[in-house]
Order: sequence, then structure tokens, then C-alpha cells
Amino acid sequence: MQVQRQLQRDLDKANQFFNKQFTPPTVSYAVRGVKAGVAYLQRNEIRFNPTLLAENGTEFIQQVVPHELAHILVYQQFGLVQPHGKEWKMMMEQVLGVPAETYHCFDTTSVQGKTFPYSCGCQTHQLSIRRHNAIVRDGRAYICKKCKQPLKAVS
Ligand SMILES: [Zn+2]
Ligand SMILES: [Zn+2]
Repeated sequence: MQVQRQLQRDLDKANQFFNKQFTPPTVSYAVRGVKAGVAYLQRNEIRFNPTLLAENGTEFIQQVVPHELAHILVYQQFGLVQPHGKEWKMMMEQVLGVPAETYHCFDTTSVQGKTFPYSCGCQTHQLSIRRHNAIVRDGRAYICKKCKQPLKAVS
């Protein structure tokens, strides 16, 4: 209830600032572990951690709700940009009027739809998050069909 109220207040500020109607995100409480909240940009959904919410109350609502909502608003206004880049900072400070702090291990932004550049011997490949995770997490290797070289992450 308090979460919804904070969300609506922040959404009103953004609507007024940009003189438009942002699409309100769906809210659910399905986050576990150390993450306080996760913003699913393309799905326009914010998930909160009910345990951390119960433990941190007001602090959680004042920090985590605008933080995650800012990710959603930035996506609707600017598209896919750096998660805590200048657009997000501007949204936090100028629009929502809160300090743009990225809280300690509190959140992650969903990166579904994002691609990761990999190179082989002949070109740059854009890999999906699924393939990228398979390489990083599961040690999978992918070979370029053209030059038969293994793909390496472009750093
Ligand atoms: Zn964040
Ligand atoms: Zn190649």
C-alpha cells in the first residue's frame, strides 16, 4: 500500500516534469535474497523483495521505490541506456528529487534484450544474454561459422 502510494507520487512528478503520461509499471513482490528490487524494463514491471521491505520499512520505500521506478522511467523516455548513467541520475535528482545513490548490492537491472559484443578472427558478433551467460557462467564456447575461431568477449 505504502509502496503504491510512493510509486504514484513519483510517477506524478515524472508526468508533470515531462508533460506526458508514463505507463505505470506492474508491481510484484517476488524477489528473494540480497536484491531489494529488480526493474524489468521491457515488461514494464518492478519486483520488490518483501523480506527487505518488511525489515527496512520507510527507508526501503524512500530509496528502493524511486530507484527502481527511475530505471523504468528512463527506459520509457530514453530507451536502453547505461543502468546508472546520466539519464538515470537526472531522473533521480531533477525529476524525483532524491539523491542518485546506487545502494550497496541492493538491486540489479534486468538486461534481457541486451546484446554483448564478441569477436572472432573475422568479425564482431552480438550475442544474446542467454549465450553470454552460457559462456561466462557455464564455460560454454562458441565458434565462428566463418573463420572457425572461438568467440572472445570484446572488453
Ligand atoms: Zn539500479
Ligand atoms: Zn569469424
